[in-house]
Amino acid sequence: MAVRSEKIWVDGEMVDWDDARFHVMSHALHYGTAYFEGIRCYALDDERSAVFRLSEHIRRLRDSGHILGTPLPYSVEQMTEAVLEVVRVNRLKECYIRPLAFVGDGEMGLYALNNPVRVIVAAWAWGAYLGDEGIKQGIRAKVSSYTRHHVNVMMTNSKISGNYVNSVMAKHEVKQAGYDEAIMLDPEGCVSEASGENLFIVKDGELRTAPATSILPGINRASVIELARAKGYRVHEERFARDALYIADEAFLTGTAAEVTPIREVDDRMIGAGKPGPATLDLQQAFFDVIRGRDESHVHWLTPV
Ligand code: PMP
Repeated sequence: MAVRSEKIWVDGEMVDWDDARFHVMSHALHYGTAYFEGIRCYALDDERSAVFRLSEHIRRLRDSGHILGTPLPYSVEQMTEAVLEVVRVNRLKECYIRPLAFVGDGEMGLYALNNPVRVIVAAWAWGAYLGDEGIKQGIRAKVSSYTRHHVNVMMTNSKISGNYVNSVMAKHEVKQAGYDEAIMLDPEGCVSEASGENLFIVKDGELRTAPATSILPGINRASVIELARAKGYRVHEERFARDALYIADEAFLTGTAAEVTPIREVDDRMIGAGKPGPATLDLQQAFFDVIRGRDESHVHWLTPV
């Protein structure tokens, strides 16, 4: 379904959704020279709305620009205000927010550092990325034939748009084969992450997730690690192979779009009992308590709109 709302923040101004257009010679369209964020705003139990971990998302946006070598032309304060303003003007109680910075038109060819860096922030209502059923019952995943980027091929700690062609191809591949999500292995064959989510396994009550070196260090990944440790789970950030995933007791994904989504099957093999396991449900509940404003100890992760 096509997404839309009323207004998009474009380089400091609110523009009607249909008027937020750019030139076809924009550098980013040709070479993938853009970077973005995905952020969620939640309706709290007390009727207010709040953006989840806004400062961490803005910092990562700025870091992506720094990694690409085309810095964000707005301050952290300006971007923070732009995000909140977009949610307010569109009167969205709950939404997904997409800041995007991209190299605009001007010169062509790879070396075009004089071209302007344009910035937009859009927001729209978006439900469970992997479906309501997926978040409740778990999803069916498949290991993609496409390898995740080597750390010196693409800068995996960034959300540079060009990186995502790899994810898009993996997602196409597994969706067309009838699965919900693609799991990607790193160049040595260890499990790295899913096409747009980080991945955790649970074995004997302990959690494992790939180290942040060669993945996108997800903000929800960091949140779940913190919540899990506070609940007494041991969490290991270490590499593991595909067979460890097959024989895990539980597996789940974390991400802004996917939130905490259980995995019930990988490569046609049932994971554990083939339904969301106790640790997954425990951490999913802890996460939902935070985003609804029910967890007093984590209200600092919420920025009221
Ligand atoms: N890995 C990839 C490749 C992603 O695109 C995302 C989504 N941003 C994630 C992991 C999860 O990151 P976050 O929890 O910050 O949304």
